[in-house]
Amino acid sequence: MKRHRNVKIVATLGPASSTYEVIRALVETGADVFRLNMSHGAHDEIRARHAIIRQVEQDLDTPIGILADLQGPKLRVGTFANGEEELVEGAAFRLDLDEAEGDATRVRLPHKEIFDALEPGASLLVNDGKIRLKVRDCGADYADCEVIVGGTISNRKGVNVPDVVLPLAALSEKDRKDLEFVCDLGVDWLALSFVQRAADVEEARELCQGRAAILSKIEKPAAVKAFDEILSVSDGIMVARGDLGVELPVQNVPPIQKRLVRRCRAAAKPVIVATQMLESMIESPMPTRAEVSDVATAIYEGADAIMLSAESAAGQYPIQAVATMDNVAHEVETDSTYRDIIESSRKVAHNSVADGIVAAAREIAETTNVKAICCFSQSGTTASLVARERPRVPILALTSIRDTARRLCLTWGTNCVVTGEVDRFKMAVVAAANCARAQGLATADDLIVVTAGVPFNTPGSTNILRVAPCDERLIFNADPE
Ligand code: PGA
Ligand code: MN
Repeated sequence: MKRHRNVKIVATLGPASSTYEVIRALVETGADVFRLNMSHGAHDEIRARHAIIRQVEQDLDTPIGILADLQGPKLRVGTFANGEEELVEGAAFRLDLDEAEGDATRVRLPHKEIFDALEPGASLLVNDGKIRLKVRDCGADYADCEVIVGGTISNRKGVNVPDVVLPLAALSEKDRKDLEFVCDLGVDWLALSFVQRAADVEEARELCQGRAAILSKIEKPAAVKAFDEILSVSDGIMVARGDLGVELPVQNVPPIQKRLVRRCRAAAKPVIVATQMLESMIESPMPTRAEVSDVATAIYEGADAIMLSAESAAGQYPIQAVATMDNVAHEVETDSTYRDIIESSRKVAHNSVADGIVAAAREIAETTNVKAICCFSQSGTTASLVARERPRVPILALTSIRDTARRLCLTWGTNCVVTGEVDRFKMAVVAAANCARAQGLATADDLIVVTAGVPFNTPGSTNILRVAPCDERLIFNADPE
């Protein structure tokens, strides 16, 4: 679907957005990718939402990306005899493996691996970081802590252990079941929560067997430290600011966001900036000025995608939230400062022939009046390289593989179209020209740039660049082959 912006919008689905009407309206308003959050929602609900997205995709005749987000190894305390307790600053509090219900002095933490990894001095954060405990003494089945910041602790509250690389399996039993379920359904992206090391990503990739592209959520200090290795084995990244801001001091999040976005662009892999982007719109039709500024900042930095969580999943104004992102994106991307920032942060890449071709395509678009860069891309790699250039004109990615088109829905500026296979360059140029006109990107009087690889249908073979008229008759008259 033709958009008037380049940054993509990811909308999380939930109770506020599970009907055909709402999901279709979200796409028409601007959602490019939907997130199915496996932490919430039974398999039946996920299956129903998935079916509706594919129906909307067919009805609107435009590829839509689906990202399934696995819960990951989220730690939780057990239950309390009274349901909840008040922890006071300075008090002692024990975590252990005892199955008895908790009280004001102790509670069960049913993860034996954590006790093996804890050391005195480590911090434990409970309930999104609202309660902070410090380990004073610990053994194989207990940790005696001091309450540093108190508050109410209640049944099954989440626990974060930021200072320690936990010897936890990257995927819980639930995650493995969910992974099989969503891969069977057919999703385009699989997001992994609480990734700590590259091996976690490789484990998921092994199970996934190419059925989905793999996106690592960066939400632990260990993942920030090991980011380069994690990026090199991932297909995409999410800056998961919610948990990241719990595990690290919140003021560390903006510089990490900036660094990660730049690294991902350099690697030509899509990056999503996520969480609390328009938080107040869960309850209000108007965002705060600070939220608008935050969304704008992510776009100025060159993120591929920005994400809505509860705003679209459980809020009162899901469609308005997408519209807000869409409006902010249009405003930012037409600002000359945006071009300055995007262009000055572009790195020259000299790795392959394809790098040279896409850079040339972008330069031609800057120096002449071509209306679009059209690239034939089977695996999506060439389209990602064009997107890394962040050209001024729209990108049209043509592929015969539907999964590629859907995955590219997450990539900056890329309009994806599924075409039949082409085996001659002239036919490729004709297909690109027809497609550019059909998508409203160019008219018969315009010029386009076309890139492709010969031999056709071989991934990584991009080696031709042609500036072509958008009029089929002119192509036939001009091109011998
Ligand atoms: P979540 O991930 O919404 O699954 O927690 C995003 C984040 O932590 O920011
Ligand atoms: Mn998270």
